[in-house]
Amino acid sequence: MSERHVVVGAGPAGLTAAWLLARRGREVLLLEADAHGAGGLARTMEYQGHRYDLGPHRFYTKSDAIQEMWRQMLPEGLLEVRRRTRIVYEGKLFSYPLALGETLRGIGPRRAVRALYDCLAARLRPRRPEASFQDWVVNRFGRELYETFFRTYTEKVWGVPCAEIDRDWAAQRIRGLSLARILYQAVLGERGSRNARSLVDRFLYPRLGAGQLWQSALDQVLCRGNRIEMGEAVARVRHRGGRVEAMESASGRSFEGTHFYVTMTLQSLVRALDPPPPPEVLAAGEALRHRDLITAVLIVERQGLFPDQWLYVHTPEARAARITAYANWSEDLCKDARTTALGLEYFCSRGDDLSSLDDAALLALARRELEALGLARVEEKAGGRVHRSLDAYPVYDAAYGRNREIVKRWLAGALANAYPAGRKGLHNYNSQDHAMMTGALSVRNALDGERHDVWSVNTDREYAEDAPAAAALPAGRQAGALSANRPEPAAR
Ligand SMILES: Cc1cc2nc3c(=O)[nH]c(=O)nc-3n(C[C@H](O)[C@H](O)[C@H](O)COP(=O)(O)OP(=O)(O)OC[C@H]3O[C@@H](n4cnc5c(N)ncnc54)[C@H](O)[C@@H]3O)c2cc1C
Repeated sequence: MSERHVVVGAGPAGLTAAWLLARRGREVLLLEADAHGAGGLARTMEYQGHRYDLGPHRFYTKSDAIQEMWRQMLPEGLLEVRRRTRIVYEGKLFSYPLALGETLRGIGPRRAVRALYDCLAARLRPRRPEASFQDWVVNRFGRELYETFFRTYTEKVWGVPCAEIDRDWAAQRIRGLSLARILYQAVLGERGSRNARSLVDRFLYPRLGAGQLWQSALDQVLCRGNRIEMGEAVARVRHRGGRVEAMESASGRSFEGTHFYVTMTLQSLVRALDPPPPPEVLAAGEALRHRDLITAVLIVERQGLFPDQWLYVHTPEARAARITAYANWSEDLCKDARTTALGLEYFCSRGDDLSSLDDAALLALARRELEALGLARVEEKAGGRVHRSLDAYPVYDAAYGRNREIVKRWLAGALANAYPAGRKGLHNYNSQDHAMMTGALSVRNALDGERHDVWSVNTDREYAEDAPAAAALPAGRQAGALSANRPEPAAR
């Protein structure tokens, strides 16, 4: 068989691989489970004249190579957006990154004194051992600020108490934010915050939503004579003699190839293997966990509800974790300027109370919460849309590193022509740029015989899409540069 590259998943990782392969003259076949659109988690949808992303997607990278790819994938260019985000807590809005004076004023004098006291006390008598997310934050900020600005959002995202989340998560995500930095900024203002601001102040964004760039990348792949099969979810991976021979979809179609780039979840890849891998590999794949994301989109018959691109909801009574106002990303997302499209994000796990609600109940919840937060009143007749993004967040539990390693080693030894890539495919909590890097490096491994360890791209991550605290991280070490032609250190 002549060379044929099969790419599973038309999200940022799969599309980057396909785009590079197509430019190098290879025949590419994309298989995408979703019947409607490309872009994966970074897809853009349309409802009542509004365009919206399933989760808000900033384009941000430290890699020149990725920036250049964005430029070529979307020749009309990206907008530069000035970031504005705040935290909603007990009916008040707090700037994020936190500003000392405003924060202390906002929580009131009694709690402000308590926050300062707690902070000092935590410094003098830190919790030992410092094992959990809770320990890590309380030791640095004190109990009061932890309860107000760190606990609720994190628990909404991961669905477990912060006392059960590993301290490494906080160390990794909140690395640049410290009380010293907040004080420093309070005294020096702009000058004190320059490092942090350089990362958070502005981001790039396609005029018509994140999915515009991914649709444009797909168009470029297709116009070189390649194919995409939409609505074909790979359910069986047939392999023999150390090589994948074909992917079979749930509808029973078989797609043969010589090289396979796989961005479906690592867990579903392991499940799909035929013949199955050894029991310990199957068990490791099964043990990998994810969080799902529900986006409830509501149309509000008002303009300019708030100026922020999104608000973090720290109010414990609200189940929503984040509220996005799409028109504040790009005014071209909104055709009807008299109305505002809002997206409320709910994190859940399959089988829990939120995931069991039907669409009507979720929209009713979203309407109630918007009103209770004092943001807007939405009539039921205005309608709304619910999207369920399954496996949106790979969970980093205590066993994930070991399980991932077991699967990784087996795949590397057993299937010479399979290239797992992307956020789900590597069970790696990464952003678009890192997902793209894994797609791009997989292509170089396949075509040029290079030996990049795509599994460790972004293990030294410096910012993230959903952790408010991470927004204050300073510019630090470069994320794995695409030009680096050397294996990355092994992931932990
Ligand atoms: C709420 C939220 C906000 C985010 N915000 C940002 C941000 O601001 N900036 C940023 O850079 N990143 C952000 N991210 C991360 C970003 O979405 C991911 O890094 C990126 O989408 C990963 O790309 P991917 O191709 O690896 O995976 P995905 O985007 O998940 O794409 C995988 C594709 O594979 C398809 N697929 C799955 N299983 C199968 C199968 N069996 N057969 C065929 N196809 C299959 C899926 O339908 C999907 O299209 C955010 C993520 C979320 C959830």
